[in-house]
Amino acid sequence: MHTLTSYVAGRWQEGTGEARALLDPTSGETVAQLPSGGIDFKEMTSHARDVGGPALRALGFAERGQLLKDLSAAIHAEREELIELGRLCGGNTRGDAKFDIDGATGTLAAYAYYARSLGDRKTLPDGEGVQLGRTARYWGQHILSPRVGVAVHINAFNFPAWGMFEKAACALLAGMPVIEKPGSPTALLAWRLAQITVDSGILPEGAFQFVAGSAGDLLDHLGPQDCLAFTGSARTGALLRGHANVVAHNVRINVEADSLNAAVLAPDVESDSETYGAFLSNVVTDMTQKAGQKCTAVRRILVPAERVEDVQADLIAELGRIQMGDPADRAHRLGPLTDAAQLEDVRAGIGRLSEVAEIVLGGSEPTELGGCFVTPTLLVAADPRADVLHELEVFGPVSTILPYTGSVEDAVELVNMGGGGLVTSLYCNDVDWTENYVIGVAPWHGRVWIASDRSVSQSLPPGMVLPASIHGGPGRAGGGEELGAERGLAFYMQRTALQGFKGFLNPRFGTPAEAE
Ligand code: NAP
Repeated sequence: MHTLTSYVAGRWQEGTGEARALLDPTSGETVAQLPSGGIDFKEMTSHARDVGGPALRALGFAERGQLLKDLSAAIHAEREELIELGRLCGGNTRGDAKFDIDGATGTLAAYAYYARSLGDRKTLPDGEGVQLGRTARYWGQHILSPRVGVAVHINAFNFPAWGMFEKAACALLAGMPVIEKPGSPTALLAWRLAQITVDSGILPEGAFQFVAGSAGDLLDHLGPQDCLAFTGSARTGALLRGHANVVAHNVRINVEADSLNAAVLAPDVESDSETYGAFLSNVVTDMTQKAGQKCTAVRRILVPAERVEDVQADLIAELGRIQMGDPADRAHRLGPLTDAAQLEDVRAGIGRLSEVAEIVLGGSEPTELGGCFVTPTLLVAADPRADVLHELEVFGPVSTILPYTGSVEDAVELVNMGGGGLVTSLYCNDVDWTENYVIGVAPWHGRVWIASDRSVSQSLPPGMVLPASIHGGPGRAGGGEELGAERGLAFYMQRTALQGFKGFLNPRFGTPAEAE
């Protein structure tokens, strides 16, 4: 049994309050104790700003990139142990745990790679310079420089590894020290990752600190140079955005919240095509991977009305091939939800959806497996415009088919009823239909994933967040943006417009081409 500790100002510290028991969602056995309280958050934030920040900023981008590369390798070396912990505290199947852990090491490695081209400079040019005066002697150049504060990362329970390091990779490369606070239900895996990070000695002292348990009064100690990046529910996101101290000091905040992601089957896609096969397999993956506890999972499946019966039958057949059970058994591809609270929420959510949609597979009844298992549940909506379908995120292996007319206008209207999404996936071979769909949904989405017979064989699933593309979305998705290669650094940096003599600005602050 582990007692989880926080890493504060160079030492590991146990919480002082009553401990929360963390349970294995398969067996119900207690796997860790999580006491909260007793952390001096003023000391923690000062340590980051006074010790970690200067040490990181003394390095250039390429040197910080090397740290990320080394950290990726150090974590990868403990992969098997981490996969086991993912099972123990999150009910992850082997595939689910790899998705999280390899996502973390892969993102660190990707940012190490981006760093190579940034060299050893201390600032980054933000685009090309521009002539401001009568002649080119008077010049303008935007630059990005690391903020001289601390980056606080508050993460959701569903990706304890990837969630922590996709944020840390960007902040550390930008030159900001981090304080990582994971979601409590799966904090055991995050804590072990923090131990590996600290024990590796790769990062300079003060660059990485870790909070086990509650965030306490951490946000009260943030100031104008600090950043707060949050991932979790829309409700908590709104709370943090409105936090009095965050508002008073204009603390920079990024919110990654939930999203009712929609997959759309266009009318032209033939049932025997590769694109249709990908549609079925991606929807099934999204419903069952991590037991549907993915912010990018498909919750709404738009299908032309006359094809609903066929698609429903095909999805039920595919879902029937997924074996649910103890994640320790490699044959099982669907494990339990993370904890009893999630189970209760998902059961209640299925109940609410069933008021406007027919359950054609699964349901909210307890399974014979006990624990926190939920059967994959597919529903078909009678009225695709019923509000609850576009408002309620049921965070489990649950998705609803929404019949639509087959017109792009109808699809766009229904998809945008989600009020802002992380990703929408389209399966379509008609280029005009696709173009109109993209134009219609892009303002409401951070990512539009498009499959056609031309590209589908090479595409990665829509639920996979890649470091090269931005992740985030407007409206209910939180209004945030992360990753997107170098774009991910901007949140942790200050953009400044320089105006002056071109001969001075270009060699020191211009793009590499301008510097020549
Ligand atoms: P949550 O309940 O909102 O919690 C998220 C994080 O906020 C946890 O670390 C939690 O700590 C912390 N927290 C809660 N109240 C707080 C407060 N008053 N002050 C400071 N921190 C506070 O969300 P969750 O249940 O962990 O995650 C599931 C949700 O996250 C789903 O809605 C999912 O869609 C969303 N999500 C979004 C993304 C994305 O990238 N957009 C990715 C993953 C998940 P404790 O755990 O200690 O309470």
